[in-house]
Amino acid sequence: MKTVLITGANKGIGFETAKQLAQSGYFVYLGSRDKIKGHEAVEKLKASGIDNVDCIEIDVTNINSIKSARKELEVKVKQLDVLINNAGIGGGQAQNLSTGEIENLRKVFDTNFFGAVQTTQQFLSLLKKSNEPRIVNVSSGLGSLTIHSSTQNPNYAIYDAYSCSKTALNAFTVLLAKEFRNTNFKINSVTPGYTATDLNHFQGTQTPEQAAKVIVKYATVDKDGPTGKFLKEDGEVDW
Ligand code: NAP
Repeated sequence: MKTVLITGANKGIGFETAKQLAQSGYFVYLGSRDKIKGHEAVEKLKASGIDNVDCIEIDVTNINSIKSARKELEVKVKQLDVLINNAGIGGGQAQNLSTGEIENLRKVFDTNFFGAVQTTQQFLSLLKKSNEPRIVNVSSGLGSLTIHSSTQNPNYAIYDAYSCSKTALNAFTVLLAKEFRNTNFKINSVTPGYTATDLNHFQGTQTPEQAAKVIVKYATVDKDGPTGKFLKEDGEVDW
């Protein structure tokens, strides 16, 4: 059975992604920075008849927490087939870069960018043991510089700290995919679409189930699938 680790899987899009991957036959480790919330999420899945799940405590901003999670997983699995860097924060509204607090910018980057980078670094040795390793970095249309610089989208959103962090995450995707281009890794940024979750006070227009389908699609690509791309449900997003 292939194994998956999803960060921030105790709720929202991460939880639904865990559910769908487990239903399609993967063994899924639900990452949660809060142990109790992680257990509750697993119990919820088990109550609906999904048994191939477990939780793992992981705070992506804390290197010791990530290392502990890796050690825990190393004794449970021979290899990790899929890593989904899903954990993310919005950072609050009204994030104009001209006036926004630098501390807020750092905080958002800490989770959305550095969190994904350091989690990936720590789990690479386990991913390399897979025949078909996959990494999905859960990005956002707000990370697209093309969209922000288009005059067609002048009011796209004032969510600048978040947007910058997702642009940086996209750069990480491209550069890591380049580093691994002669291997069997597939590494992509995926935008799940505007989804009703805690992140946006449930203002999103689609369901977590719909969002998770997009992530599952690219977490399970075969050897001919894309790598180093920024993807949405029906194809590529302009960087
Ligand atoms: P959500 O419901 O707020 O879930 C976010 C998850 O990330 C939660 O499990 C949260 O844990 C976890 N998390 C936050 N900081 C963490 C940390 N330091 N370490 C580990 N886990 C942490 O939001 P969501 O919408 O499902 O977001 C999931 C991903 O989708 C994010 O990367 C987000 O940027 C992306 N995305 C969302 C949308 C949208 O419209 N919702 C659109 C595009 C992209 P706690 O429960 O402990 O807070």
